[in-house]
Amino acid sequence: MLIYFGVLVTILGLVFGSFLNCTAMRLVRGEDFVRGRSRCPNCGHELTAIELIPVLSFLIQKGKCRHCGEKISARYIVSEIVFAALSLGLYFKLIFGSGDAIDAQMIVFLRNWILTGCLFLISLTDLESQEIYNGVLLFGFANFAVFAVALIVTKNADIYHVGLSLLSGLAVGAVMLLLSLIMDKILNKDSMGGGDIKLFALLGIYLGFAGAYELVILSCITGLIFAGIRRILIPEASKEFSFGPAIALSGYILLLSEEYITGWYLSILL
Ligand SMILES: [Zn+2]
Repeated sequence: MLIYFGVLVTILGLVFGSFLNCTAMRLVRGEDFVRGRSRCPNCGHELTAIELIPVLSFLIQKGKCRHCGEKISARYIVSEIVFAALSLGLYFKLIFGSGDAIDAQMIVFLRNWILTGCLFLISLTDLESQEIYNGVLLFGFANFAVFAVALIVTKNADIYHVGLSLLSGLAVGAVMLLLSLIMDKILNKDSMGGGDIKLFALLGIYLGFAGAYELVILSCITGLIFAGIRRILIPEASKEFSFGPAIALSGYILLLSEEYITGWYLSILL
């Protein structure tokens, strides 16, 4: 049963990964992403159902368009596999999860899966165009609200805790805004984008106060590592560095492990 659901989560992860990648590309290019079929970016050939199967179609077609023979960017298959892996991570967390009631765990799993989709989308658009779209952030906030209601209705959370979550999002957003204003003054240039600050606020709501605090530290570490790797791989890259993916990845890591990290951190302090 567990394996059956694991396979299901992997397949859904591949399909959603494919969908999110296309959505990101359409957002960046300003195309309508609700209607309109997927096309080959080179010849405009509309993709048939078979060509839309994640990973498999890429392997069958040997990474080329069936129509014009143009190479398909590795970006497609990479994003499908990465999102499937992220989905499996959440699933493992669900299986080996906390001692919470099973309905609460299921609700949190679904909520975090959708949030991970938002984080993935944010990372893709930020990497490509240094842009984090408000629509995606809003979707993340709405997702929290919907599942907060579900948790309250099933008596797995109360208004007080939801209020605390909202406060921690507000707090981390305010702290990061202040920090970025100070940094701007010191460096005499824009240090952090408004999208980054909103992303901190969004994740702060999901992670709570301890998690939000860890998010700030982990994001700085991940950001430095990403910047270092980028420096080595593409020395000629522009100075514009996307901080969004580092924040998003840190947020995802904390979704999986916040309680362990907090426990470990407290054990050092006390
Ligand atoms: Zn083509």
